[in-house]
Amino acid sequence: MFQNPILNEILTKYRENKLAHAYLIETNNLDLALQDLKELIKNLNCPHNFTSKCTECNLCNLINLNNLPSLKIIEPDGANIKKNQIETLKTDFSSIPLYSKFNIYIIKNAEKLNASSANAMLKFVEEPTQGILGFFLTSNKDVMIETIKSRCQTYTLNYETESLNSKLNISNELYAEYLKAIPKYLEDIYSSKIINHKKTLLNIFPERQDIENILKIILAIYYAYFLKLNQKPYDQNLTNIYLIPDNLQEISQKLQIITKIITNMSYNVSIELILDKFVIEMRGTHE
Ligand SMILES: [Zn+2]
Repeated sequence: MFQNPILNEILTKYRENKLAHAYLIETNNLDLALQDLKELIKNLNCPHNFTSKCTECNLCNLINLNNLPSLKIIEPDGANIKKNQIETLKTDFSSIPLYSKFNIYIIKNAEKLNASSANAMLKFVEEPTQGILGFFLTSNKDVMIETIKSRCQTYTLNYETESLNSKLNISNELYAEYLKAIPKYLEDIYSSKIINHKKTLLNIFPERQDIENILKIILAIYYAYFLKLNQKPYDQNLTNIYLIPDNLQEISQKLQIITKIITNMSYNVSIELILDKFVIEMRGTHE
């Protein structure tokens, strides 16, 4: 079961054999919606009583690797989705799917279908072919080409929108400055033997509040990786800030360390001591 009622509804329709052949999903977060759709497709087809951690079956493994032949995800090539991308899709889907019941396409940024690519797409949505299921993802269905829109069943799939900088109550500019400093800081912690990295950070951000915000962002980055490794929807904007190796145990340990350090910030402990402790503990659990 999904937390989102829309996904549950599609799941139920599938089980009752009442699926539409094409769905238009308007969403405020295309990346999360795409991840959720992939989970849905695993859930529909997994032969191993699907759980989000299934690594037992070819289907779930291939979807995780973005390599399932019967699942094609199309994104704009440049400014538009091009007609030849749709032609390739048609060729790909001329064979019968191996691990899933349907050949499934997901068109991300479906509003970027232009007249000719939409026209090529019509074959799929106008005379639905048995065994082909489609999802059009868009952030704004009002600008989507009408011929496609009118032939889809439409849903809205919205996610919590509050971004990290509004949660931390800081300006976009300050947030951007933090994001510039964080990768360098983490890189320094993990790459060199000296402990005195606090200066590099404190020289730029002498205020206690800044350091607390930075630690909260680092916590959010590790948490995003934690979600990713557990195959839950995660914020790619966060994982893009800094690359962390896929090691669930290490990530869990670091989440505990960072949480404890942030709690220490609220006591009257010197910021220099806190940062020293942070560096030692983070390094101690580093592979
Ligand atoms: Zn599976």
